[in-house]
Parts: sequence; C-alpha cells; structure tokens
Amino acid sequence: MNKPPLLVSACLLGQPVRYDGHGKALPAPELFELSRRYQLLSICPECQGGLPTPRPAAEISGGDGGDVLDGRARVITQTGQDVSCAFIDGARQALDSAIHHGCRQALLKAKSPSCGNRQIYSGHFDQQLQQGSGVTTALLQRHGIHVFNENEVDRLLLTAKQQA
Ligand code: SF4
Repeated sequence: MNKPPLLVSACLLGQPVRYDGHGKALPAPELFELSRRYQLLSICPECQGGLPTPRPAAEISGGDGGDVLDGRARVITQTGQDVSCAFIDGARQALDSAIHHGCRQALLKAKSPSCGNRQIYSGHFDQQLQQGSGVTTALLQRHGIHVFNENEVDRLLLTAKQQA
C-alpha cells in the first residue's frame, strides 16, 4: 500500500535550517515510526521564501499568521526588517507542495512564526507566547490541511493507524 504524504518541517528532520543555523531533530524512534507510516516531504518555508541561514530571528507583529496573509500584521526581524513577503512566498510554496502531493496532514515546528500551529511569540522579542498560528500553518489550515506539532506526534500516529 502507498504511504500517505506528510509535510514535515525540515528542522524536525535534523536539517540545519533554523534561524540560528541548527536543526531540531525529532527523537530517532519517532522519526523511524513516522517514516514507516508516511512519505515524508521536507519543507522549510523561510528558506524556500529566499531567506538565508543563519538569519535574524523574526516574530509576527500585530497579529498571527492569518493576519499576515490578510495584510493586517507583519513579520519583523529582531533587526527591524519587514520579511513578510518572504514568509508569504514560502507559505505558498509549502501549500503548492502539499497540493501537488495530495497531502492532508503536516507535522510542523511549534512556536515558529512560519510553522507554529497553536502558539507564536508575542512580536516583542520578550519570550512571551500568544495564541495563534504561523504564516505557513495558517495558509495550510485554510486549505483543510491538519497541522500537528512535534509534541503531538502520538496523536498524528494515532490518525495514521485509524486510516490504515
Ligand atoms: S521555517 Fe519551519 S522548517 Fe524552517 S526552520 Fe523555521 S520552523 Fe523549521
């Protein structure tokens, strides 16, 4: 049987694409189980949007990822640069990849201004969190793609077992 496709944040696969030039790999047993059940499709929206690695940390100012997509909020780096266009471009590329592969689920990095699915940082670089999604997650969710984070792998695998 063909394995269903799953979009996965490249940093969770251990690729050194985060703003600080490092990855954040999932534990090996989880990676093994996910690759057994899914066809893993690596994405890094910020890299695909043209941003370098390493790069200045960025947060969403004035709302969440959906607000950025709708032009009501902006993604601003710690050095004051507006990188909203790159974030939106990367989100669109992630969505194109999901549609191309018929992807209905994604496993993306928590709290990221691109990939976060429940919380993001406040926009003030003060380590405070607020409810909301990152830009890529918001776009994927608008197209019916269910986004999990790295603390929800058990739940994701449960859905895989139920679909098997
Ligand atoms: S944009 Fe997403 S995949 Fe890329 S480094 Fe940030 S959290 Fe990881």
